[in-house]
Amino acid sequence: MRGELIAIDLETTGLDSANDRIIEIGAVRMQDGKIIDEFEQLIDPGFPVPPAVTHITGITTDQVAGQPSIEQVLPALKKFVGDAPVIGHSINFDAAFLARYNVLTANMLIDTYDLAAVLLPRAPRYNLNSLTAEVGIDLEHAHRALDDIRATALLYWKLWERALGLPYATLQEIVNAAQGLGWQAEPVFRAALEEKPIPQDNSPVDLSGKDLFGPPPKDEKPLRPNDDLDSLDTESVIGLIDENGALSQVIPGYDKRPQQITMARAVTETFNQGGHIMIEAGTGTGKSIAYLVPAILWATANNQRVVISTNTINLQEQLINKDLPVLHQALDIPFKATVLKGRSNYLCPRRLAAIRRRRPTSIDELRTLAKILVWLLESPTGDRGEISLRGPIENITWQRLSAEDEGCQLDRCRSVMSGTCPFYKARKAAESAHLIIVNHALLLSDAASDNRVLPEYTCLVLDEGHHLEDAVTSSFSFRLDEATLRRRLADLGGSKSGLLGEVLRSAESAAPEKEVKRLKKGVSAISDATKLMEHHIGSLFTAFQNVVDNPDQPNATDYNTQTRVTQAIRDRDAFAHLQERWNNLKEFFDVLSQAMQYLTEALARMEQYDLPDYSDLVNSTATAARYLKETNSQLNSFIIEPDPNMIYWINTSRDRFNATSIHAAPLHIGPVAENYLWNNKETIILTSATLQTRGNFNYIRERLSADHVATLEVGSPFNYRESTLLYIPTDIPEPNDRNRYQHAVERGIIELAATLGGRVLALFTSYAQLRQTAQAITPRLALGNIAVYDQSDGSSRQALLDGFVSTEKAVLLGTRSFWEGVDIPGENLSALVIVRLPFAVPSDPVFAARSDTYPNSFNDYAIPDAILRFRQGFGRLIRSSTDRGVVTVFDRRVISKGYGAHFLEALPDCHVENGPLDGLSAAARNWLNLT
Ligand code: SF4
Repeated sequence: MRGELIAIDLETTGLDSANDRIIEIGAVRMQDGKIIDEFEQLIDPGFPVPPAVTHITGITTDQVAGQPSIEQVLPALKKFVGDAPVIGHSINFDAAFLARYNVLTANMLIDTYDLAAVLLPRAPRYNLNSLTAEVGIDLEHAHRALDDIRATALLYWKLWERALGLPYATLQEIVNAAQGLGWQAEPVFRAALEEKPIPQDNSPVDLSGKDLFGPPPKDEKPLRPNDDLDSLDTESVIGLIDENGALSQVIPGYDKRPQQITMARAVTETFNQGGHIMIEAGTGTGKSIAYLVPAILWATANNQRVVISTNTINLQEQLINKDLPVLHQALDIPFKATVLKGRSNYLCPRRLAAIRRRRPTSIDELRTLAKILVWLLESPTGDRGEISLRGPIENITWQRLSAEDEGCQLDRCRSVMSGTCPFYKARKAAESAHLIIVNHALLLSDAASDNRVLPEYTCLVLDEGHHLEDAVTSSFSFRLDEATLRRRLADLGGSKSGLLGEVLRSAESAAPEKEVKRLKKGVSAISDATKLMEHHIGSLFTAFQNVVDNPDQPNATDYNTQTRVTQAIRDRDAFAHLQERWNNLKEFFDVLSQAMQYLTEALARMEQYDLPDYSDLVNSTATAARYLKETNSQLNSFIIEPDPNMIYWINTSRDRFNATSIHAAPLHIGPVAENYLWNNKETIILTSATLQTRGNFNYIRERLSADHVATLEVGSPFNYRESTLLYIPTDIPEPNDRNRYQHAVERGIIELAATLGGRVLALFTSYAQLRQTAQAITPRLALGNIAVYDQSDGSSRQALLDGFVSTEKAVLLGTRSFWEGVDIPGENLSALVIVRLPFAVPSDPVFAARSDTYPNSFNDYAIPDAILRFRQGFGRLIRSSTDRGVVTVFDRRVISKGYGAHFLEALPDCHVENGPLDGLSAAARNWLNLT
């Protein structure tokens, strides 16, 4: 949309349009992409500007004092805006404030956030700063109204140009899909469509989507394992990674690492002999090469697939983008490796076609569909990792369009989709690959599912193996909340809407009257049951809430309360009431489950009538029937017949949604590990930098039921005595002396950061303490131009890491996710502060239930669990053989408590100094040879 447009932005004292006040207005007039006039005015709100607002905008109380009131500014603003269309980034926020004064009530509003969500489908973030950077606009002073609005106006113009660049057919489809939904962005897409010449060939779009996805894979044959297996020659394998071996020829400055050779030898022998081994390989071993080389040689020699499973996407990316290309170059063997993700990562073309045909029913669905259509023009992979989905709505819509829950009949889809389906292609690639890279979540959910994603395999490497217990726990867990249950039932719809409506429409168009009648009977039973369930679902979740609201319950005022459902809870009156509520609902659940099953079977018998979207409807009804059956059974176990090997808990959030959810997770994962891993695979290599506690593998073996699994420790090639100073402040107050302790933590970080010029990573165990520390140290470190990066502004982990590394003087504060996987080699990171020993939260239901299984849970469970995390945290500092740095532990319990020695003994042999907190900075300066 071109012509005259007004862009507007407000700064306000808060987010509440009813009670907060405007403190600055910025507006620009734009004519065909050029800013031709500007309006800027500070406004006196009549009370002090809150410090948090000053922190964000730079606007102080002094600056606004004595400025005109909003009422005085309004006439000039109204004149400036007139009746032109008005642009803004999240314009509805500004419009809500101005509507109080009867401004912008009749103007057409255009939201650049809304447009960007569709037109920049791969933008990493959608705030104004990130988007302007994404399209190459320089934003000098973010968060001042006039600067922001100039940027917004220019951003709009870039987005308009992108809209104009879309193919005619895509624009036409978006505009048609938006009909009647009242989407604010629709006029922009319509204007772009009207500007474009109608193409000569304007035949209807092929909604099957075959043309949207990349071409089908070359028809490569699946691997067929050799009947007789060839052993690897261990010395030949070692020769490849030894001095002057093949790897040394392609990696500049290649260093032989004895630890790597020891590990590669053990991995090779395990492949040759079969069986399982756990290998702890310290930081710097190069463990991925140590298992990849034997795995590739084994797989290619025997035509066997080897599955490599990691916990994090970072490690997957390292394997596929760094290690495997080097090995392709170094090894004189052609091998194929591929990444296979969980089903929900792949867009299902049939589901996409179905939504395109029926058209979206809500603005949210429309926006996500439009985004996907634009994205597929740029990236025809259909891989979730390449689109930037924002918020729960886009994620839910994606979920519905993904291959998740699909009973994919791959060969059937291949003929319909000509082999272009992303999931089909990934699955095909995996069948012919020697190495399949997956994550633990997929590995385990695949093991637990009848509808397998992974092709057959017998050899498995589990990297980041210390996460296996958590990964099994979450793969075999159950979660349900009221909104999800209601949404799943609403998705069923009735005779005219939702899935049931689609089933009837399809049947009525092609099936005989008698069959349609039968279906109608089923549909009517289902929609009657879902209507009657409405009220009972509300009562059930209120009853869950009442169980939690018991005044005896600890942490009842916490933002999030997790209440483990123990026998004592089950004995309460509130629980008896919950059981009554469930008995009422269960009757309908049973009827509904049976009716869905009946409908699924009736539909499955109608294959010969060639119904439109037949396979899709059969799959969707089968999935819905499965969901209802499973949910019915899980609720019944939770409330009436608990499984002794499961942990049950209720989670309540005291936010504005006040949501209650219920959860179940396995108490012991050992039987699962035995069933699906140890007793099911020929060869398993489980590795990590941290598997041992107290100098042995007993704890992890016990947790994973892996008593019979061999173990090996190869150590680390780094010389920690030379590189690492471990400084223990001896006079820091104990953590339970809260105020004095917190004050000491803040002082310690400030002094250390001031001495080193930033370059400090502090690891916290609690978000609340991190936030409190960030608030205290940020203004003081700002005096020395040291920036503080912390999670309290909602930035992603990667954004914080990037900011920390690219800022000359910076401190990074992180909670749980920063204790591992952070890899910052060199001088950017010189000091690591472990703020507290990372004990699990005792009230965590899974931890608490598992603790109950030990006679001495603190000693045998809590301490080893914390030691593993402590070792991971310690490992963040030294990332290369030339790194040098300081680790300090601001938790006196490592010296004041008997168990503290176990933590210190678990660390590599480094240079240790004990001293006062005041001595930390000097010790760090000496250690790092700073003047
Ligand atoms: S194979 Fe599965 S994901 Fe692919 S189009 Fe068919 S149903 Fe969808």
